[in-house]
Amino acid sequence: MESIYFNEEHHLFRESLRDFLKKEVVPHIEKWEKTGTIERFIWEKFGEMGFFGIAYPEKYGGMDLDLFYTVILLEELQKVNSGGFAAAIWAHAYLAMTHLNKEGSHEIKERYLTPSITGEKIGCLCITEPFGGSDVAGMRTTAVKKGDKYVINGSKTFITNGVYSDYLVIAAKTSPELGNKGISIFVLDRDMPGISATKLDKLGWRASDTGEIAFDNVEIPLENLMGEENMGFPYIMQHFALERLIMGINAHARSEFAIEYTLQYMSEREAFGRTIDKFQALRHTMADLATEVEICKTFNYTVAYRLNQKEYVVKEATMSKLQSTKVADNVIYQCLQMLGGYGYIEEYPLARLLRDSRLGPIGGGTSEILREIIAKMIIDGKDYKPAT
Ligand SMILES: Cc1cc2nc3c(=O)[nH]c(=O)nc-3n(C[C@H](O)[C@H](O)[C@H](O)COP(=O)(O)OP(=O)(O)OC[C@H]3O[C@@H](n4cnc5c(N)ncnc54)[C@H](O)[C@@H]3O)c2cc1C
Repeated sequence: MESIYFNEEHHLFRESLRDFLKKEVVPHIEKWEKTGTIERFIWEKFGEMGFFGIAYPEKYGGMDLDLFYTVILLEELQKVNSGGFAAAIWAHAYLAMTHLNKEGSHEIKERYLTPSITGEKIGCLCITEPFGGSDVAGMRTTAVKKGDKYVINGSKTFITNGVYSDYLVIAAKTSPELGNKGISIFVLDRDMPGISATKLDKLGWRASDTGEIAFDNVEIPLENLMGEENMGFPYIMQHFALERLIMGINAHARSEFAIEYTLQYMSEREAFGRTIDKFQALRHTMADLATEVEICKTFNYTVAYRLNQKEYVVKEATMSKLQSTKVADNVIYQCLQMLGGYGYIEEYPLARLLRDSRLGPIGGGTSEILREIIAKMIIDGKDYKPAT
């Protein structure tokens, strides 16, 4: 099945990425999970290897490769078993950088996209606010034009890379009276006066920094507006298709990791004189789980293929995240059970996997919101069109 989507070069890329992660990342994961800080050197190494540039134009230092290279990057990152590390990387490479690439001017791309590809600058995407994340249009942060500046006031929360990143892509209301038609996107340097960030403690994704950020009369040049004024909402919605597919792919990949590890464990662990993978009750559970994951993966690859063909797959990407994250939570819960008491012990991978996986149905659109979107499309006949 994989060969429909992956050619020899994809396979070679996967192998070299896997070697790189094993050698350069895995030895540091425990430390980063404990400190909640991913050291700078690894960002630069990712940059040197070209991993941040696979989806971006050659003009700005990228490689402009098809979406299946991104699929491979996401899958292999999940297999390192640090949802936080993976999130820090993909939030930079696919949340912040997607906006820079699609809406940024040539100057913005030179100033932010190129150093993001080399790993010299790290970015974050700030949409969610303390007063509500699902209701994006209800955001309260404002950007008021004063002479040759915008002045930004407000706050954001739950922002991945929100504390240690170098720049922030943020959504703010330029015309609050217009509701969701009055939102714009800006890029801000971390060291601009008036920006402060606090790190949040959280259940999982522990290697990544999740920040609450305040903007107090932050003055930014007019040219830091990205794309057209008041077009922010459609830009955000447009990129949700990729973001949700990313979260679906992450979910099938971490499910696969859980199953692979658990089957190995079951083939070694003995009870009542035989290895536990001989008990029919457990075998059938694993058979069900493997089936569910395979179906998600096949669906996700199809959606990736269509997105790569430039189809606007809003409904399918929404379904991908909804179903794959639900399956992942169940798979990981059940796999943990297969390990008995060891499942609950930090030395074994399932404990962290369970914590990290729980964010799947919450971040980037909760499952309830995703069901609303799908219901509107299949029941009310709503059709979402891309902004550009
Ligand atoms: C670790 C972490 C990292 C994150 N990273 C980022 C990031 O990098 N950038 C960013 O912008 N955001 C980020 N988020 C925010 C995330 O996207 C939001 O938490 C999410 O969208 C939900 O918003 P909320 O937390 O405000 O929940 P709320 O919107 O307050 O929702 C609360 C509950 O009500 C339900 N609900 C709300 N509206 C409806 C409705 N209409 N119908 C039915 N149920 C409804 C929700 O499903 C949920 O169960 C991150 C969050 C976390 C925890």
